[in-house]
Amino acid sequence: MTTVFVSGANGYIAQHVIVQLIAKGYDVIGSIRSEEKGEKLKKNLNSSKFTYVIIPDIIKEDAFDEVLKANPQITAFLHTASPVVFDVDDFEQDVIIPALKGTVNVMNSIKKFAPQITRFVYTSSFAAITSSEHTKDTVITEDTWNKIARDGGVEPMLAYRVSKTFAEKSVWDFYEKEKPNFTFNVVNPTMVFGPQAFDSEVKGTLNFSAEIINKILKLKPEDEVPEFRGGFIDVRDIAKAHLFALETEKTSLRLLCVEERFSNQSCLDLIHKNFSLDLPKGSPGTGSDFSQMPILDNSKTKALIGPFIGLEQSVIDTVKQVLDNQK
Ligand code: NAP
Repeated sequence: MTTVFVSGANGYIAQHVIVQLIAKGYDVIGSIRSEEKGEKLKKNLNSSKFTYVIIPDIIKEDAFDEVLKANPQITAFLHTASPVVFDVDDFEQDVIIPALKGTVNVMNSIKKFAPQITRFVYTSSFAAITSSEHTKDTVITEDTWNKIARDGGVEPMLAYRVSKTFAEKSVWDFYEKEKPNFTFNVVNPTMVFGPQAFDSEVKGTLNFSAEIINKILKLKPEDEVPEFRGGFIDVRDIAKAHLFALETEKTSLRLLCVEERFSNQSCLDLIHKNFSLDLPKGSPGTGSDFSQMPILDNSKTKALIGPFIGLEQSVIDTVKQVLDNQK
């Protein structure tokens, strides 16, 4: 059975990917930045099919050389590690460069030391697809690219968009120019909700996207409901997308993973519908007008890996896990 390498193995998405890989019989080697995080994940997974190596920073050029040299049984590489951080001082150093250099470093190491790796999967983002010039008349598909400039990362969200756009571009360019032995597919998720892979991962503050729901749960009844909206996909479907990207004979795919639009208000309405919690009401029923937002057409992706879990089920599972595990 194939041994799959997963970078950023302790990440919110990666943990679900690894759970699904192990369930299908794959052996998994993950990279994690510290022993503490590695041991925690090993304990949670409780499987001899998972081992990990410590790679403190993907920015280091030869970061992946040793593990690839030492493990010729690895035949596929899922690159999920990338900074998903917004509270940083230096967007270029802390967000953009690690994403870009990290991705190129991985591909260079594979080309040099692991020619037996035949499939590379890159976890990109809707951030590499959606662009500020898109209007309500734009139809966004798997072929749409963010046209942001390389020096456009002037505030946190834009820096993240630059990081994902140019890191994904580096994958397409590397494949074209370097002609490696591997083929590749890309997964482009919108905002990812859904439960943590393990209850012990429920903390006061969750990873960026799961925290969107968690923040709503932290509102006081008298609070205003902050305006926030976007595209939604469940984390279990993102894991499914990674396994498809790994296993399919199709190559050079962009899997645009979105199920529906959400707003804080629409999530809040779903929470009130399904739970009895002391939260603000906001303006019930007003949060689902997305007519001014670009049109999303991911029918090609849905035909390959749909159907997806809906927002209501995802919100229910997320909230239930948080409530059951609140310290
Ligand atoms: P996450 O929980 O923050 O996972 C990110 C992973 O990358 C963590 O393991 C983190 O390690 C690692 N990492 C970050 N910077 C690193 C560096 N310089 N060197 C080594 N490792 C580094 O976030 P996630 O939501 O699961 O994101 C996983 C991937 O999905 C990312 O590529 C992200 O851009 C993409 N994505 C996420 C969403 C979403 O809504 N969640 C949507 C679209 C795309 P530490 O935990 O030790 O910092």
